[in-house]
This record gives sequence, C-alpha cells and structure tokens, in this order.
Amino acid sequence: MHRVKVKVVEDALDANETIARANRDDFDRAGVTVVNFMGAPGAGKTALLERVIGELGVSAGVLEGDVQGSLDADRLASLHVPVVQLQTSQGFGGECHLDANMVRSALPSLQLDPLDLLVIENVGNLVCPAEFRVGEDARVMVSSVTEGEDKPLKYPLMFRACELVVLNKIDLLPYVDFDVEKFLARLETVHPGVACLQVSARTGEGMEAWREWLARLPGRRMVSA
Ligand code: MG
Repeated sequence: MHRVKVKVVEDALDANETIARANRDDFDRAGVTVVNFMGAPGAGKTALLERVIGELGVSAGVLEGDVQGSLDADRLASLHVPVVQLQTSQGFGGECHLDANMVRSALPSLQLDPLDLLVIENVGNLVCPAEFRVGEDARVMVSSVTEGEDKPLKYPLMFRACELVVLNKIDLLPYVDFDVEKFLARLETVHPGVACLQVSARTGEGMEAWREWLARLPGRRMVSA
C-alpha cells in the first residue's frame, strides 16, 4: 500500500516535470527569464516586488498566485506592470502552491514576447512550492525576521531549492528575538554558499541590491545560453 502511494507521488512529480519543460520551452521562445518567488504568507513577497518591479530597467511582468482574491495583483497592477492573477481556488482545488500545469493554464493570458523578466509570485507557503518546478530559471525565497531564525532547519527543502534567500523586515530586529548570525549559520548548514540579501521593504534598506539582482537575471541567462 505504502509503495503504491509513493509511486503515485512520483508519477505526479514526473507529470509536473514534463509540463514544466513545456513551459520552459515557451519561455525560451519568448526570450523571457522567469523567477519563481516563494515564501511564507506575510513574509513580504508582494511588498518586495512593489519596491522594485517598475524600476528594473528591463520589461517585467508578474504572475500572481493566490488561493483566492486579487489583492496582491491589484497592488502591483497599480504600478503599471502587466500582472495576471492565477487563483488556485478556481479549478485547482484551492492548492497551497503553484505547479507547472497551473502556470501553463495562465500562459494564454500573458503576453510573453514583450517581457524580459516574468516573476511568478507563488502561494504563501514554506513546504509545497519547493517541490514543484514551473519552468523557471531561478528561484528566490523570502524569509522575514518575524518568522524566527529556526526556519532553515525546519523547512530545509524550501531554503535549499532556491538561488537566493532574501531576509526581509530587518528594520524590526530591535523589537524581535532574531539572531541574524544564527540564521545565516543555519542557512549555510542546509544550503552551503547560497546568497542572502538582508533587506527591509518597509524602509527601503537593501532595495538597491535586490533590484540589481533581479535586473541582472535576463542578461545572465543570455550569457549562459
Ligand atoms: Mg503576496
């Protein structure tokens, strides 16, 4: 019985991988670099995009994943950035993550050709999004100091399945028990060598480095192609 269950999960992940490759082919054809942007609810994913998405110097769009509603998409659309909302409550059983098939279902609504960069803001969750590739070039995860310094040890896959960790809300460090050095050491344990930016979307601290990291991505892929 156990073995059957494992096989079903493996098949589902294989199917996801096939669709992710099809997405990737479409992204490549359109010449758009894609970032899968993940983190817990309230970590500041949307706020971090609001700060920089209109000032990257490259043509950027957002695919906004939520269980329901369009609060985040509305915030970003007000910056005159192309935004498409994907709701997992509509036809996808209210899933807690985006998978390749959900992203594929949104592609007809997205004009990929004019874009250099597409940021896919995943559903807020520290577990499931890490397991599903959607055809992205890079993965970024946001952790905030209010979540606690233990998170890399408790959710190692999420901290491992990314090219960049953004530590947000550092303006709150005087008010919370969060040891940055301990967090960085734990992060290094689960993902040796991964880059970590320390930022505050609220005060703007670190936004220049964050903006530059995103703005460099399209060029970086062209170099590696
Ligand atoms: Mg959000």
